[in-house]
Amino acid sequence: MVKISQLLSTYSFMGLIRYLRMRMLGKVVLITGNCHCCGNCCRKINLEGARGWLRSEKEYYAVLDKYPEYERFQITGKDDQGFLQFSCTWLTDQSLCRDHDNRLPLCTNFPDKSLYFCGGKLPPGCGYAIAEVRPFDKYLEDALKGGEK
Ligand code: SF4
Ligand code: SF4
Repeated sequence: MVKISQLLSTYSFMGLIRYLRMRMLGKVVLITGNCHCCGNCCRKINLEGARGWLRSEKEYYAVLDKYPEYERFQITGKDDQGFLQFSCTWLTDQSLCRDHDNRLPLCTNFPDKSLYFCGGKLPPGCGYAIAEVRPFDKYLEDALKGGEK
């Protein structure tokens, strides 16, 4: 059985509440929309290490040993959840990526669903939206159960 402390290294407290509530309601995270290149997600970044979202400089330096490409990120403070927040030095004054073709996977995958479970939210002005939805197969299951009566 997974311990709460293990879950809290992956999810923030708020993220864990979201995760458990969604499990109970049979919901999933749906991401819609598109990017309009405002660059705001490169100014407020949470990074994940082997033991979950980074909370201390020490954890960040441990990640740097393994992933030197993360050196482009600078610590700017902490967010409401107590996770370190970074900005990227590759962001130009025009809010564009200095080397768009060689972005990191975390950049190309943004916004990843895990953002929602670390208690995070999309940056202001982002063209994407995150919603909790009930998947079609759940409605189908309900309809089939109804038909069996
Ligand atoms: S590498 Fe480019 S896309 Fe990734 S955070 Fe930095 S500026 Fe943004
Ligand atoms: S914040 Fe959203 S819209 Fe702006 S660059 Fe990032 S993904 Fe694109």
